[in-house]
Amino acid sequence: MQGVERSGAEGPAELVLRGGTVLALDAADTRGTAIAVRHGRVLAVGEEARIAPLIGRRTRVVELDGRAVIPGINDSHLHAAWLGAMWPDTVFGAMEAGASAEVPSGGHGGPPADAAVLEASAADPHVPAGPRLVDDEDGRRRAILRAGELIASLGITSYTEPGLGPGEDDGATGCFGQAVLDSYRALESERALRARVNVLALFGVLDGPSELRAFLAGLRGLERQTERPAWLRVAGVKIFADGIPPMLQAWTAHVYPDGSHGGLLVGGGDLDQRAANLGEMIRAVHRQGLQLGVHATGDRTIDHVIDAVEAAAAEAPADLRHYVIHGDLVTPAALDRMRGLGMGLNVQAGIAAKTAPWVAGVLGEEVAAAAWPIGRAIEAGVRVSLSSDAPVLAPDWRRGVADADAWMGAAAPAEAERRMLQLLRAYTVVPAHQDGAESWKGTLAPRMAADLCVLEANPLELAPAELPGVGVELTVVDGDIVYER
Ligand SMILES: [Zn+2]
Repeated sequence: MQGVERSGAEGPAELVLRGGTVLALDAADTRGTAIAVRHGRVLAVGEEARIAPLIGRRTRVVELDGRAVIPGINDSHLHAAWLGAMWPDTVFGAMEAGASAEVPSGGHGGPPADAAVLEASAADPHVPAGPRLVDDEDGRRRAILRAGELIASLGITSYTEPGLGPGEDDGATGCFGQAVLDSYRALESERALRARVNVLALFGVLDGPSELRAFLAGLRGLERQTERPAWLRVAGVKIFADGIPPMLQAWTAHVYPDGSHGGLLVGGGDLDQRAANLGEMIRAVHRQGLQLGVHATGDRTIDHVIDAVEAAAAEAPADLRHYVIHGDLVTPAALDRMRGLGMGLNVQAGIAAKTAPWVAGVLGEEVAAAAWPIGRAIEAGVRVSLSSDAPVLAPDWRRGVADADAWMGAAAPAEAERRMLQLLRAYTVVPAHQDGAESWKGTLAPRMAADLCVLEANPLELAPAELPGVGVELTVVDGDIVYER
């Protein structure tokens, strides 16, 4: 390849990893046994003989000894400041430790017994009383850096911080306010971030209400400029459209045990007004050329979001890559419309597995079995990003791949490799597209960012369920080693 030879002629590689498997995860499914890196970019992927001429006196050579290199992991929905403040606790970990006796086994007949626990944590992180998790600049910085260290040890090189803004300035955790974005800006200007960060601005309360007027005012005042957008980028806006099914909050065509259909979190006098306000928020985000990430779990909510995106795109066609977050009750028809509109689905298989019994408890087994249709969405051609929603779940993408595989059900042996590639792409290539960055990150082709994750073994030779036991050995961001086991 011409580009490679030209770059190679400029001088030797700074870093070469050889003697293992390199999975580029590009469309051609390029594989090699070595990779060369220089100036933060991939120089070449290929057989060792091809890489050998790029090794100079000062090149650091890492012998892979059969280990595997994949693109750095992109956890496309991860609350890093909150994670850093909580770790090693997670929301589900706390639930399982503190309230496991309360978790309904089959979840039949009525809201789950641990609904209060769920509400106090996943559904509303503001409820816990007591001092804020972080309360000053020092605390915010330490939380972000602590999360950075943790995720570097997991091979994560990019993430989306989904929801920071003024509506959370007085929030009980201190982890989602405008000041957190300011801390990110400061850390980036000091070159202290260990991963590339995309931020969704939030003009309401996390897992809570938002008001149209404040939302529009916030949108107008949104400061997107950052020093180096490849490292810190304000991508767009997060909206919490509805709550979650186990709390009877997701707006759905199905019927909850109390006869209700749930509703919307967006403020308004009645459901019609709330829906109209949500639609106006979505169109305003689109008109401003911003990406929209909508927390939407109910089928009616999702349909309504799609309607609004469709209307906005008709007014002003633009490739903004809006996406639905969670998407619990998304229907096959909605998936087809999402594909047509270029909308993505950002989903957490671990949350699906843990909360499906609760969905069954309030909406029945059939609805629960059809919920979170990850495999169907991928087959329908929707861009599906897998993520942890950490600290709701631990930020371990290996567990996420295993959970997604299990959730999707048995695959024919011939399909197993294809599925593993799909799941790995859902943590690399697809979220790079969500970030508007597929031209420079997410695969290991020449000139792409040298963001790498080195695994103890080749994931294509493993069953997904084995992946959580496979060590992350080395993490490289922008050509620099940020973690070494
Ligand atoms: Zn979240």
